[in-house]
Amino acid sequence: MAKTVKAKKAEPEVHFFGDVCSFFDKAARFTPHPQGLLNQIKTCNSVYRFQFPIRKGNGQFEVIDAWRVEHSQHKLPTKGGIRYSEMVNEDEVMALAALMTYKCAVVNVPFGGAKGGVKINPKNYTVDQLENITRRYTSELIKKNFIGPGIDVPAPDYGTGEREMSWIVDTYAAMNPGSLDASACVTGKPISQSGINGRREATGRGIFYAVRECVSVSEDMKKLGLSVGLEGKKVIVQGLGNVGFYASKFIQEAGGIIVGLCEFEGAIYNPKGLDVEAVFNHRKKTGSILNYKGATKEFKNSSVGLEQECDILIPAALENQITSANISKIKAKIIAEGANGPTTPEAEEFFTKKGGIIIPDMYCNAGGVTVSYFEWLKNLSHVAFGRMDKRYEENASRTFVDTIEKATGVTLSADQRKAVIKGPTELELVNSGLEDTMIRSYHEMREIKVVNRKVDSLRTAAFVGAIDKIAVSYMNLGIFP
Ligand code: GLU
Repeated sequence: MAKTVKAKKAEPEVHFFGDVCSFFDKAARFTPHPQGLLNQIKTCNSVYRFQFPIRKGNGQFEVIDAWRVEHSQHKLPTKGGIRYSEMVNEDEVMALAALMTYKCAVVNVPFGGAKGGVKINPKNYTVDQLENITRRYTSELIKKNFIGPGIDVPAPDYGTGEREMSWIVDTYAAMNPGSLDASACVTGKPISQSGINGRREATGRGIFYAVRECVSVSEDMKKLGLSVGLEGKKVIVQGLGNVGFYASKFIQEAGGIIVGLCEFEGAIYNPKGLDVEAVFNHRKKTGSILNYKGATKEFKNSSVGLEQECDILIPAALENQITSANISKIKAKIIAEGANGPTTPEAEEFFTKKGGIIIPDMYCNAGGVTVSYFEWLKNLSHVAFGRMDKRYEENASRTFVDTIEKATGVTLSADQRKAVIKGPTELELVNSGLEDTMIRSYHEMREIKVVNRKVDSLRTAAFVGAIDKIAVSYMNLGIFP
């Protein structure tokens, strides 16, 4: 499912890569690495800009602008989504590719960072035209060696989803006949096309784990004047696409109260909570988040929705949503960045000086790429997780339970027996790998912030950790002795 939030920006942003670099520079000061190495880490290694024509059906042609940027090849393949949006520009794709490099390092996913962009509004094209564009885009990447299981592996992003990933893998396989690992050339595929269970929800689930970890640290919650745990926390989410929807759903299931939801057409609010699934269905039916019966307030100007009373704000739409223009009106004490680059450096400085916590994008939304990594591993091993050992584990557990029952004379109930014996499914293994990744990475990042380098924000800490890991990689490659 593709994210559905539309950009609110009037003009293309031309400073996003600059913003990422300024976050990088700020963090680099807390690392011991030589400037030349830092420059190498920061720069975008390969920027491929291309154009191709598509037939419009009425004898006319349209020239489409497209990009693929590989930010860092210190680890291969490079990895990152493909975005379909009218707002796409080179600066944005470079910034997003850079964020992918740091993101992978933060969650210990062994890839370099990349990103792709096609400058179209998918809503203006038929499915046939979108297929044509996607297949043509893929062919252009193949021609220039910008795609492949060991080279560069795309995934879904804003405006793309499982359908597009299917077209990509099919095009790649057709042009690489006999390639055993062809399915690993892209992730986020449907299950029937060698995808993995849990990838669709992965980014949203990862955000849920990130927020849950953040609010579990009593020392930090005390400083914010908040109680420990998700239970009863008031949350506003911007974006009801794939990322925002699943993040809201999992947070709600864990006891959080989704008090506000914002989409490009407007925002709704209810201090007692909104039913996320019901709002999602209402929007699907009516085409708008507005006029939802369960809301006590609604705003035609969506950004006003971000400024309502809450504990946690989750921007899960696009970059540049929280800026110096609105940060002083944000009431949340925690901002969890579901989107890439939703907060500008100026807004972050203001917010952290006030004592707020920002859970940075490069960690917070890394669930997607983490499960993409699992999908890639599954594709390379040609076997689903759990297939070999599920039954073996169940039989071993059954023998164990039988032995204990016999020795103690205690008999488990049918439900207890089932729970103890059951072997893990692929989905359970994926979710467990994701949960472990998000928990470990949060504390690694927080440790750098609070103990090791004593920096002002989790973002700076995340950058410091990422820079250190990438620097070690380069040095071990022998490039920087
Ligand atoms: N587009 C997603 C991101 O920004 C996923 C990337 C991937 O799975 O490779 O993290």
